[in-house]
Amino acid sequence: MAGLDPENWTNIRAAGHRMLDDLFDGMEAVGQGPVWQPMPDDIRQSFKEGLPDTGTSLEDLYARFRRTIVPYGNGNTHPGFMGWVHGAGTPVGMLAEMLAGGLNANCGGRDHAAVEVEREVIRWALEMVGMPVDGSGCLVTGSSMANFISVITASRAKMPELRNRGVSGPRMVGYAATTAHGCLPRAFDLAGFGSDSLRRVPVTAEHQMDIRALREMIVADMAAGHTPFMIAGTAGTVDCGAVDDLEAVYAVAREFDLWFHVDAAFGALACLSPTYAPLLAGIGKADSLAFDFHKWAQVPYDAGCVLVRDRTLHAAAFTQSLDYLKREERGLAGNAPWFCDFGPDLSRGFRALKVWMTLGHYGAHRMGQMVDDCCAVARHLRDRIEATEGLTLLAPVTLNIVCFGVDALSDAEVSELVQDLHESGIAAPSTTRIHGRLAIRAAIVNHRTTSRDVDRMLDGVIALCGQRVG
Ligand SMILES: *Cc1c(COP(=O)(O)O)cnc(C)c1O
Repeated sequence: MAGLDPENWTNIRAAGHRMLDDLFDGMEAVGQGPVWQPMPDDIRQSFKEGLPDTGTSLEDLYARFRRTIVPYGNGNTHPGFMGWVHGAGTPVGMLAEMLAGGLNANCGGRDHAAVEVEREVIRWALEMVGMPVDGSGCLVTGSSMANFISVITASRAKMPELRNRGVSGPRMVGYAATTAHGCLPRAFDLAGFGSDSLRRVPVTAEHQMDIRALREMIVADMAAGHTPFMIAGTAGTVDCGAVDDLEAVYAVAREFDLWFHVDAAFGALACLSPTYAPLLAGIGKADSLAFDFHKWAQVPYDAGCVLVRDRTLHAAAFTQSLDYLKREERGLAGNAPWFCDFGPDLSRGFRALKVWMTLGHYGAHRMGQMVDDCCAVARHLRDRIEATEGLTLLAPVTLNIVCFGVDALSDAEVSELVQDLHESGIAAPSTTRIHGRLAIRAAIVNHRTTSRDVDRMLDGVIALCGQRVG
């Protein structure tokens, strides 16, 4: 027997057809059963068997998959899931992932069709947010990596010698609101500037970056001899979905000659909604932008995206010249620049196919409607909270995130209540802290979540609260 391919293709073909049928059955019935259930100990232990010396039949492995993996998922495909910021996937995305698996393309570079698909998807993304389509970008794991690539690109644009010489000399500093996602200070940490070099600008009562405070902080840093290089606005904060005044942030960036970055991890999709796009005015002026196709665009994990207005500056931050990766005028080694010129990854999978098929199938208009629908569900939840005695809305509902408090309970009790709700299997919101108070947080990122599902969640909260209060 040569290689790893089967001797008998008939059997594996039949097994594959069955897997696909089972997947469709599961997706069709996705709302039935609990959102989440804890893994029994024996099943958890079954994943600690050590490296197998001899192989197991595909039938046996698939039976294990059905029994020990499928029932203990993260729950994010279920309509009752509204925690953190998770996409729910689609059958189209699932099929595209399978097709990409069949091709096993390496999109680090070279001259093949998968690279053209990714270039097309990047142009779609640039068009979606209103950046010039001759900009650059690439698909990455998620917004954490996309924000990191943006910080690297912005700092090298300011100080090209960082690439060879490393971090030394004046302190490189950037600015983001206190509400910015934790991956931004982490990006400053990983870049070697230190997380404290990302200055955290206070926010207004509307949870937006305080522009006056931003200017004062920049002036103070310059007076201290530091080197400001970027401002990161957020379009859709992770805690309550607020949108910074991007036009105002852009104006400050131009005034001080700083890079204007936008973290629009989920908010970018609101550009497709005629109703909500005006909230994001100015987003197209970004020098770089990070967002996820795997969140509000419902593309299966993982699919993050970084966009850069000036492709020369983007490439200048990452390109290397290596003999074993020489670009040629023709042949398989042609078609420069390669995606490995725009980020730290060399080998890269064909993420673009599931993005291309998802957006291609549903189209921008329908995706914008889906965004509107999610926001309408959030407003329904907000209205019910405001009409319910004993519940308090803790932040304005700008887009699709609703944060509320339970007046009768302490923070510790609210945290316990949410854990009870998860274990009940009814719904899965998460928690955050708003003005120091623990909030139950429902982020309607899931295209399957309806008003009925948020009603079930809220009824669950009220019932569990009643049990606690007695
Ligand atoms: C989710 C999120 C991130 C991080 O994105 P990942 O894809 O999880 O790496 C960054 N910023 C915001 C605002 C987010 O919501």
